[in-house]
Amino acid sequence: MSFFDLLQKYPATELLQRFEQVETRDIDRALTRSKLSIDDFLCLISPKISDSQIETLAGIAHRITSQRFGRTILLYAPLYLSNECHNGCKYCGFSADNHDLRRKTLNDDEILREAEHLHRQGFRHILLLTGEAPEAAGVDFIEHVVRLLSKRFSSLSLEVFPMSREEYQRLVDAGVDGLTLYQETYDQKLYPDLHPYGPKSDFKFRLEGPERAGQAGLRRIGIGALLGLGDYLTDAFYTGLHARYLMQRFWRTQVTISFPRLRPAEGGFTPRSFVSDRQLTQLICALRLLAPDAGLVLSTRENAELRDNLLPLGITQMSAGSCTAPGGYEGDEGEGEQFTISDHRTPEEIRNILAERGYEAVWKDWDGAFVDQRT
Ligand code: SF4
Repeated sequence: MSFFDLLQKYPATELLQRFEQVETRDIDRALTRSKLSIDDFLCLISPKISDSQIETLAGIAHRITSQRFGRTILLYAPLYLSNECHNGCKYCGFSADNHDLRRKTLNDDEILREAEHLHRQGFRHILLLTGEAPEAAGVDFIEHVVRLLSKRFSSLSLEVFPMSREEYQRLVDAGVDGLTLYQETYDQKLYPDLHPYGPKSDFKFRLEGPERAGQAGLRRIGIGALLGLGDYLTDAFYTGLHARYLMQRFWRTQVTISFPRLRPAEGGFTPRSFVSDRQLTQLICALRLLAPDAGLVLSTRENAELRDNLLPLGITQMSAGSCTAPGGYEGDEGEGEQFTISDHRTPEEIRNILAERGYEAVWKDWDGAFVDQRT
């Protein structure tokens, strides 16, 4: 069964009714489970949770994270290759509707300059990003960039448009080991309103992208919803359902989950719901209980204080020193940001903060050579 088929078994109206029915004792019972059912997870993200129950939840999440991951945080940085895009996502600064944005795809020299900047800062894991414009930054271009950078970095991940299984396979063969593909919202009725044209308007093709990537042997697959686009509770539930599905189906692949939050009026777009710090904390802890081995990722969208406070509760990966414009690390201004970041600390500052709190910053936890040695 594909995840699309599984999703149809959990209509939003029924979920919202179930959220209404959750009682204090359901939450207490979920907190005692050694292995959560999907209904337990629903109870743990319920708005009816009390402050003392959240404290208990946070304590369990902290214990599980310490047992599974120790006191380490993997640091990574995004490298934006292109801001050209044919999609009209209503919440994104790179949307084709943004006619004021100077469009730019980096050439080899610019890519190497940006990559060297990140390498000098210590990064060995980088995330390569594009919009969706195949003639400017399609699969051939991405494969070329991966081959250009694979000797300098131990891990190259992609956050680009969804592809066929064969295309993912080509990129795995070139040296890609990770993929991030946010569904943005799992609400099938709302999705076309937010993605009115362009290839991204195909909800099902995007939803099934992580499965095709799993079939192609990607070592790390990241999912998430852009919180605030749709109804928070249902998108949070579907994110957990999706993570659990992928973990069961692709047990050799590490699943990671991100929690990007839209802030009010970001890029002129008004979020449908505002996700509070309390809700975000509750979701991170509940996901840790549902998926004890999942990597949980927090980006520089969130402010420094919140990122520091969420550290012990389940986070295992963080971006640092990020710039969301192509050419923005070494260029004067870059070519237009996708979104504004909130944590402006340098990677060095973040490393020092982690150390002060007893955490070790990990710049490299994987090398493609591990695979080469086995073959
Ligand atoms: S979210 Fe991605 S696909 Fe949509 S407009 Fe922005 S860059 Fe393009």
